[in-house]
Parts: sequence; C-alpha cells; structure tokens
Amino acid sequence: MKLFEYEAKDFFAKRHIPIPEGIVCESLDKIREAYDNLGGNVVLKSQVLAGGRGKAGGIMFPKNSQDAVDMGESLLGRNIKGEPVEKVLVERALNIQEEYYLGIITDIDSGNPLLMFGSEGGVEIEMNPESIKRTFVHPFLGLSTHQVRNVLVESEVPQEHHQSIIKIAVALYNLYWDMDGELIEINPLVGTKDKKFFAADAKFNIDNNAIYRQPEAPKRKIESVEERAAAANMSYIGLDGDIGIISNGAGLTMATMDLIELSGGKPANFLDGKDALSKEGLKIGMDFILENPNVKSIFINIFAGGPRCDEIAQKIIETIALIEKEKPLAVPVVATLHGRYMEEGRKILSKYNSSHFYQESEIEDAVNKVVALGKKHNEHIDK
Ligand code: GDP
Ligand code: MN
Repeated sequence: MKLFEYEAKDFFAKRHIPIPEGIVCESLDKIREAYDNLGGNVVLKSQVLAGGRGKAGGIMFPKNSQDAVDMGESLLGRNIKGEPVEKVLVERALNIQEEYYLGIITDIDSGNPLLMFGSEGGVEIEMNPESIKRTFVHPFLGLSTHQVRNVLVESEVPQEHHQSIIKIAVALYNLYWDMDGELIEINPLVGTKDKKFFAADAKFNIDNNAIYRQPEAPKRKIESVEERAAAANMSYIGLDGDIGIISNGAGLTMATMDLIELSGGKPANFLDGKDALSKEGLKIGMDFILENPNVKSIFINIFAGGPRCDEIAQKIIETIALIEKEKPLAVPVVATLHGRYMEEGRKILSKYNSSHFYQESEIEDAVNKVVALGKKHNEHIDK
C-alpha cells in the first residue's frame, strides 16, 4: 500500500525525522488560511501517490496569498498522472543548500533491506544511478551507524553533516522495519543554509500482506483485483498456480488454462482481456499479474478475430518496455499471436529485444516454454 506524502510525513514526525511545518488542505479557504498561518513563503504540494509531481507541475511556489489561492485552484481537482488531486499540502518552503537522496527498499533477490544514499537528490535522481551508494542491512541486526557513515564517506558528504543524516537514516530504517515497509524514501533530503536537515518529500509503501498487523496504517478501501479488472472491462479470477495468463475471449482463456495444466503447469489466474487488450488493458492486466508474488512466468495467448495482431503486438512491446523502464522484468513472458494481421504482429514482436521475452508461433510450443521457464524460475528461487 502506498502512502500519501502527508501520511508518510506524519509517521516521520512521530519518529523525530524533521519535516517542514505543513497543513493538509482540501479547500481554497483552507489554503489561504494555511498560507497566512505559515507566514507566507510556502510551497503547495499536490497529494497524489505517483512520483515526479514536480516535473508534472504538481509542486508550486506562490508569491503571495492570492497567488496561493489561484495555484491551489489549479491544483485541486486537476489530474496528475491519472490521479485526481483531492488534497494539497501547504508547507513552509525550505531554504535549500543541499539535496540528497535517502531510501530503503526490500531487495527482492536477497530478501534483505537495502539502504541507498545519493549525493544528487531531487527531481533528477533517476538520471544518475551511478551516484547512488548502497549497503545491505542485516534484518536481525538492524542498521548500524557505521554503515550509514560509510556510505556518507563514499558519497563525499562533508563530515559536519554526518551526525544529522545518520540520525535520520536510523530513524527511517526503524520506521520501515517496524511498519513492514517495502520502500521508504526521502527525496530530496534537504540541508538548509543553517545546516539543518529536513525530509522535503516522503514516500512510504507498506507491504500489503502485512497490513493486517499494522493497526496504524491508514485505512483504505482496497478493491480486489477482480473488481479492478471489471472496472477496466476485463474479467480476472485469481487462482493458486504460478503461471500468469493473459488471453482474450472466455473460451480461449479457458482452453489456455487447460493446455497449461496438461503440460504440468498451474495457472495463477484467469484473465480475459477482451477488447481492452489492444488499448490500455494489456498494461493493466500485466500489472495485475505482476502484483501476484506467486507468478513465475507469464503467457500471453491472443487470437485476434476483431482486433488486429499488429496493434496488439505494438501494445505488448510498449507495455514490456514501460515495465522494464523501471526495472528488468522479474518473470519471463511468452507470447503467441494468431488471427488478423498475424505476420505483421509477429514481425513486430520478433524485433523486440529483451532477455525475458519470447515469441512462439505454435501454441503447444509456447505452453511448453512458459511451463519450463516457470519451473526454471522456481529452481532459481529455491537455491
Ligand atoms: P516529487 O517531484 O513528486 O518528487 O516532489 P518533491 O516533493 O520531491 O518536490 C519536487 C522538487 O521541488 C524537489 O526536488 C525540490 O527541488 C523542490 N522543492 C520541494 N519543496 C521545496 C521547498 O520547500 N523549497 C524549495 N526551494 N524547493 C522545494
Ligand atoms: Mn521527490
């Protein structure tokens, strides 16, 4: 579960991680009042779960109280990266001297927490991954101060800042650990002209599987995958196997499941993407399947009667490229296309270069491949 910035910052405050003074606002009146109460010099921050709000125009710096109201009006109700802005956080602006990046994620491969520190925090962080220094944290020992000191030395952070950043990093780690975090991030971690440090931004994702034992986690109406699929005009049913399936038409989807079973595999889901697959449905469907931690391989089996194979092929490679932009696909994907514009579609798929993506012309070959890849993935994990 992703927390909003203001929710994450509430947790930060409880753990004595310094945050700028701020007020959450849902109306223009409240924004004006907050502007005055904070004595002007504020920043307006759209509260959406997506990152990169700054670049999307979701962070604004008003010059006076009327400006704050006008900007607030343009933010409230706007859509940022597909999410409606329902709240604006009005925060005392910081006098920024330094911007660092500080984050902890649960590393999927090792299963251990990984602390990351970057000397070039801010909105451009994804541009320069080399500047990020990393250290694994032993889950039973916790984060020790010397580990943080080592990454700070490696990052050539001036000595005078070490003590404050170490304190923040340890508190951040403990919060992440106690709350079953999956990811916790301060970007930017700001050093001000008077040599104080603040979490200017906050990202915090809590492991969905642990929400039941986190009474302090915000309460959300969590829709099931089935409901979310229906809302996207698709039909999804979760199953307990490990091979993700995306197909179109209920009949073909069921036949695909049968073939998987006959080859010794177990379907992780039924997903009939219907006509949505040639539009946004493919990405949404892939996200549903990748959300399921049991999935070891994915089979996309399409028969294009109405829609066209070349359009679906284009969607497939766009979707995989989009997913791989963040990180390489964690599980292999096998695709087969039949139907209208089949040759064109296959040509498009065959040009796509990813070590985790395979195309087969025959359904039987595809089924054997996806089952074998799933088993291989299992062996890899078991090691
Ligand atoms: P994000 O784009 O969603 O990551 O939103 P952030 O909260 O990180 O804000 C984007 C950028 O706005 C930051 O990287 C800062 O450079 C800048 N920013 C945010 N808060 C302040 C502030 O209080 N003062 C100043 N001068 N800049 C800020
Ligand atoms: Mn940020």
